[in-house]
Amino acid sequence: MDVVTLPAGVVYTVGAPLSAAPRAALLLDRDGTLVREVNYLHKLEDLRLQSGAVALIKAANDAGVAVAAVSNQSGIDRGMFGWDAYHAVERELRRRLGARGATLNASVANGFHPEHTRGWADQHAHWRKPGPGMLQLVVERLGVRPRRAWMVGDMASDAQAAKAAGLAGAVHLLTGHGVRQRRDASALASPDFPVLVARSLREAHELLAEQGLFG
Ligand SMILES: [Mg+2]
Repeated sequence: MDVVTLPAGVVYTVGAPLSAAPRAALLLDRDGTLVREVNYLHKLEDLRLQSGAVALIKAANDAGVAVAAVSNQSGIDRGMFGWDAYHAVERELRRRLGARGATLNASVANGFHPEHTRGWADQHAHWRKPGPGMLQLVVERLGVRPRRAWMVGDMASDAQAAKAAGLAGAVHLLTGHGVRQRRDASALASPDFPVLVARSLREAHELLAEQGLFG
């Protein structure tokens, strides 16, 4: 994998190349969204794709929509695991998706946490969701205007990061931590920033299709 390290603690992994300029982008939180929430996933045996993930990513791939995973990994600065473990999970995730014909075009993660990152400062808050840094970076690298990108996640901070980055909207999933986060996520909706609620990735897929994401 081609790994680009940005400011210390932020890692961008280049995925499958795009065959043409993407028409839009689909940004997916990882834990609790793309894969089952197990809290601080870092062991391959705990990796389980969520139902509907392959179909959603394939639909985006087929429609010329760039797909990226955008993930807070505070387990790094908590000292629970290192970037090697993160990359191993990333490789296995891509292998399993690829075996079923679904590809990620990029992944970005940060290892920060306000209580665990030494010298926590505004720059860390910029990169860690709900800050917009990772989302802005990924849409820029993928060549997509923010207003052509949607975020899907199970935390209110996913929707908040999407709003701060100027994205088109967010889908709040009720998987992972989504049920207890629903009220805070929905409160972020505004006339120019829809927050749609989905019980599953399958339902998120339908909602994004209704929004015209796949053409
Ligand atoms: Mg999550």
